[in-house]
Amino acid sequence: MMLQVTNLEVFYGNIQALHGIDFHVEEGEIVTIIGSNGAGKSTTLMTIAGLLKPKKGEILYRGQNLGKFPAYKIVQQGISLCPEGRRIFSSLSVLENLIMGAVQRSDKGIGTDIEWVFSLFPDLKDRVDQPGGTLSGGQQQMLAIGRALMSRPKLLILDEPSLGLAPVLVDMIFNVIVTLRDKGTTVLLVEQNARQALEIADRGYVLETGRIILEGPSEALRDNDRVKSAYLGG
Ligand code: ATP
Repeated sequence: MMLQVTNLEVFYGNIQALHGIDFHVEEGEIVTIIGSNGAGKSTTLMTIAGLLKPKKGEILYRGQNLGKFPAYKIVQQGISLCPEGRRIFSSLSVLENLIMGAVQRSDKGIGTDIEWVFSLFPDLKDRVDQPGGTLSGGQQQMLAIGRALMSRPKLLILDEPSLGLAPVLVDMIFNVIVTLRDKGTTVLLVEQNARQALEIADRGYVLETGRIILEGPSEALRDNDRVKSAYLGG
């Protein structure tokens, strides 16, 4: 088991966002968490990344309890979050944004990994000196994923990578996610785009108002009546 989340409860002040959720991710899987606006998806991811502290529950990563770890140590353990809304550095160039993703590394492989990111996203290579803020939405998403990859994560966590992108770019990003999984990166993918998330994921969970209400292999979720009517447009 790579990641095991048990009975996770997270609050914003008095507001409870997660009501004791359980889920897990096996090594080599793409696991998706689908749900509508405000279901608690980003809260879940930010808690795993150490950006929010849970009130209750346990997050085990390769048998180690992440509960007390600060965010930077969680990155060092091999978990990288590509946040919703991209959050790239707009005044820094493409190259500088990628280097920022490797700040915790001191090894000599950074140059090779930049080339690797460029091979996944050739658009970025053509714009290496361009400020991040001048990129299109799709290119910014590529850069955000590329930056997350620069810490060489074993578990890549993606928060709504398809948000606001044209269908052709969504396809492109989702193809890269599959490539990454095939090459050995485990992926936890949060999406409102349930249809496409369930197409590439091995398993999925449905989150509604801070509770997991359904889980299973992607095909089973795609065939589920509740999923169909609530998330796949009938
Ligand atoms: P979205 O797709 O809109 O990001 P989500 O599923 O990621 O939705 P969260 O952002 O995790 O949902 O929000 C879960 C709940 O927590 C919502 O009810 C939201 O209003 C609440 N919430 C989120 N951030 C805060 C905050 N900073 N302060 C108070 N409540 C918050």
